[in-house]
Amino acid sequence: MKAVVLEADWDPRAGYLPSARELTTRKATMASHVWRHPRFVATEVADPAPAFGEVLLRVRVCGVCGSDTHCYEHDQDGYVLFSGPVRVPVTVGHEYTAEVVEVGPGVRHLRPGMLVAAEGMLYCGVCEACRTGHPNQCPDLDMVGFSAPGAYAEYVTAQERFLWPLDPLAERLGSAHRALELGALIEPIACSYNGMFVSAGGFLPGAHVAVFGCGPIGLGAIALARAAGAATVMAFETVPERRAVALAVGADAAYDPRDAPAGDTIRERTRGWGADMIVEAAGAALQTMPQIERAFSPGGKMVYLGRTGLRAPVLLDVLVTQAAGIVGARGHAGGGCFPRILRLLEAERLNVAPMITRRFPFARTIEAVAKSCDRTDGKILVVHE
Ligand SMILES: [Zn+2]
Ligand SMILES: [Zn+2]
Repeated sequence: MKAVVLEADWDPRAGYLPSARELTTRKATMASHVWRHPRFVATEVADPAPAFGEVLLRVRVCGVCGSDTHCYEHDQDGYVLFSGPVRVPVTVGHEYTAEVVEVGPGVRHLRPGMLVAAEGMLYCGVCEACRTGHPNQCPDLDMVGFSAPGAYAEYVTAQERFLWPLDPLAERLGSAHRALELGALIEPIACSYNGMFVSAGGFLPGAHVAVFGCGPIGLGAIALARAAGAATVMAFETVPERRAVALAVGADAAYDPRDAPAGDTIRERTRGWGADMIVEAAGAALQTMPQIERAFSPGGKMVYLGRTGLRAPVLLDVLVTQAAGIVGARGHAGGGCFPRILRLLEAERLNVAPMITRRFPFARTIEAVAKSCDRTDGKILVVHE
């Protein structure tokens, strides 16, 4: 079958000693320490077959993730930017929806013809992290499209436990096509859901919410904040196209932080109260933290979802004076994220369709990933005919 595969060279950075386990498995725990000179290649790979508990899926839609962009791009020394687990060569792509075409032994509920959305964090389910409610922190985690075969391909296999049926959504919308496209947005939105509502414990209706960075994670946070009853949703983003999408998915105002410094803007807009929840989805902590530390409401929480390997100084004293908190989160597994977002979509209470700003056919997948480097789109989808 056809697939788009990431290739790169194993070349640990000067000063980084791969663990014994990394050396035997060739799975780099932090790709950016090890994998150099990345290449995306459209090629033929072996057809997958479902093992016990797995189904064979025909991929229908796959979103381009910022993490794909981070594997396509490299720093000045040639290392990929992505800091998650990667083992190459690997078929890329993880934000996908698909049709079940074959059911392996031991599969309980899925049948051929059913449409599904897939989780991409393949947690083991038996370690202490998994069994105490932290599947996204599983030390044995594999990630679809990075350390396990992904969905920039005609077919992929997946365990039933990572799949959620989309047929009720298709029925509700009267369109399998729309359900497959919206379904491909669940993974990035679930990362926001997990951070805001599972890790940080959410906010009360009537709260003020500020979102920094309006890529797909920030846009998902805006739509969720709106659906969850925020009184005000303020977005901060330097790219004008993305500010327009932020307004379309539910922000009350979208500011260019270079014209409207976020700290003051949030204070003014909330009549001095500050933001009850602040979502950092910009991955630019050096720029955002000096603003965020001035924007906490009493009891306010910041959720850090962006990624950067750099240290960012924070005036921790504001956490004392405002009784504020900073919470980090990664991933979308567990916590009821997928099924609850599906319910919001089925109830048409989550306005995320405007996030989709560009589509490419499967044959032009690499072009789609290259386009994502512009960082002007909401979500780019690769759609199979
Ligand atoms: Zn993703
Ligand atoms: Zn585990």
